[in-house]
Amino acid sequence: LLRKTDVVNILNDIVKTIEDNRQYLTDLDAAIGDADHGINLDRGFKAVRDKMTQFSDKDIGTILKNVGMVLVSTVGGASGPLYGTFFMRMGNVVSGKNTLDENDIVAMFEAGLSGIKERGKAQVGDKTMIDSMEPALNELKKALSEGRGLKEAIEAAANNAYNGVLMTKDIAAKKGRASYLGERSIGHQDPGATSAYLMIKTVADYVD
Ligand code: ADP
Ligand code: MG
Ligand code: MG
Repeated sequence: LLRKTDVVNILNDIVKTIEDNRQYLTDLDAAIGDADHGINLDRGFKAVRDKMTQFSDKDIGTILKNVGMVLVSTVGGASGPLYGTFFMRMGNVVSGKNTLDENDIVAMFEAGLSGIKERGKAQVGDKTMIDSMEPALNELKKALSEGRGLKEAIEAAANNAYNGVLMTKDIAAKKGRASYLGERSIGHQDPGATSAYLMIKTVADYVD
């Protein structure tokens, strides 16, 4: 079970993770994009941190919807509207709630990922953030259905997200800026798949 304070703590941990990986994510984007992914996300999550007190006393749904709106208005690029949609859709699913059980967590992740796919029209294998998120969601559902605890299930999800990250090296981009490179994007790891993995790993590290 996750409480509202846990959600706020996780969001603050994600701010820190993105800050720590700002250069790494930007370097990945330099190879196949326009060298701004870490800069974009760091700007967005710092804005989330700065505005957090304006909504941290609300229910979890409202907190997540606000996070999404802040990301949409501050991250920019392709990833801003996509991550923004992810958090807003997660918030919609848990509207009014002050705690999250395993079913809520799966439903949130499912709704968030569906939002990204609808908005960006990409699917697994297009070399995007979906390549780490979808394997993570599948593994989360599998682990929970096998009766493994939340910590173990989210850790398994994060590990499978990392498998997805590595897989992006072997494929050509079909969406986003990297798709302009076509086959020349092969051999490079997708920045968005990497940032999504890092966020999932941050949740896994927090939960106990
Ligand atoms: P921009 O490409 O506009 O500079 P960013 O560098 O912040 O934006 O984000 C790039 C990342 O966005 C890519 O690495 C990829 O994972 C993700 N991305 C791009 N287009 C899509 C899409 N249509 N669907 C899902 N993810 C996408
Ligand atoms: Mg970029
Ligand atoms: Mg850009």
